[in-house]
Amino acid sequence: SIPLGYFGGLGAASRNGILFKGASFLDAMTKIKILVTDKTGTLTQGVFRIKTIEVHNGWDETRFMAYVKAIEAQSTHPIAKAIQEYDVELEDLEVKNVEEHSGQGLKATINGKTVLAGNAELLNNHNIEVPQSLDAIAETLVLVAIEDQFAGYIVVADALKADAKTAIQKLKEAGVQQTVMLSGDKDSITQQIAQSLGITWAKGGLLPEEKLREVEELQAQGSTKVAFVGDGINDAPVLATADVGIAMGGLGSDVAIETADVIIQNDEPSKVAQAMQIGRSTRKIVW
Ligand code: ADP
Ligand code: MG
Repeated sequence: SIPLGYFGGLGAASRNGILFKGASFLDAMTKIKILVTDKTGTLTQGVFRIKTIEVHNGWDETRFMAYVKAIEAQSTHPIAKAIQEYDVELEDLEVKNVEEHSGQGLKATINGKTVLAGNAELLNNHNIEVPQSLDAIAETLVLVAIEDQFAGYIVVADALKADAKTAIQKLKEAGVQQTVMLSGDKDSITQQIAQSLGITWAKGGLLPEEKLREVEELQAQGSTKVAFVGDGINDAPVLATADVGIAMGGLGSDVAIETADVIIQNDEPSKVAQAMQIGRSTRKIVW
């Protein structure tokens, strides 16, 4: 039978908007030494906005944006949502053969033309030449190719959550030895954010399966418990593999919430350290 103290702990957690899928995770939370976190939607708000639009190769900006909006209408990615805010008519555009490349972007046929919208890897994989000058831009870009030619890009930006820095600080105070951020976003942006938040180390430009491999490697390195915090559909495999999977419950995807062991209802990353503290207090009562 479950000791009474656990019910107290689960109750205290739930009053604070932290849902545990089982009493055993209260205890597991206290043993976390490595905390791996996703960036977009977990430490950042996950709400992108368009900053600038640059068209190339003679494209008209309105027509260019109509194509991008039409292809991004097929995706639920936070970047796709930002593009949908752009005010342009799509009436004469017929979108077919849509392929979503997880962690990279989209490919489709629009009015018979092959269109790509996503990151540099997506365009590279399709042998599209992208101006080298774009490598130096430490911002998230939606690169667009139409009919095998680079057609331009959109700069999009996301903001940090208000408690992102506090969250990392509190994790250290709660006994986490290593904080790690893994992101599918550009490495330059990932490193910049990691540094500003005081994260131990970070890696960007990762595909979902590469995030999984990083977590498996950390688990293989020792007997320490590895937790993962994430929000997206892409994060489900890592959430399942980590010793404790923690999902953002507000804006988080259904798959992430189903797969996780612990849910943070209001999406505040600082709740992770609070969950560890609640686990610790519970333990004092139980033993
Ligand atoms: P994260 O790990 O930050 O949550 P994702 O794995 O979801 O990121 O995506 C990684 C990168 O792939 C994004 O930063 C973006 O550059 C690109 N990407 C993914 N989906 C789309 C999309 N629908 N439109 C444009 N770019 C996309
Ligand atoms: Mg995310």
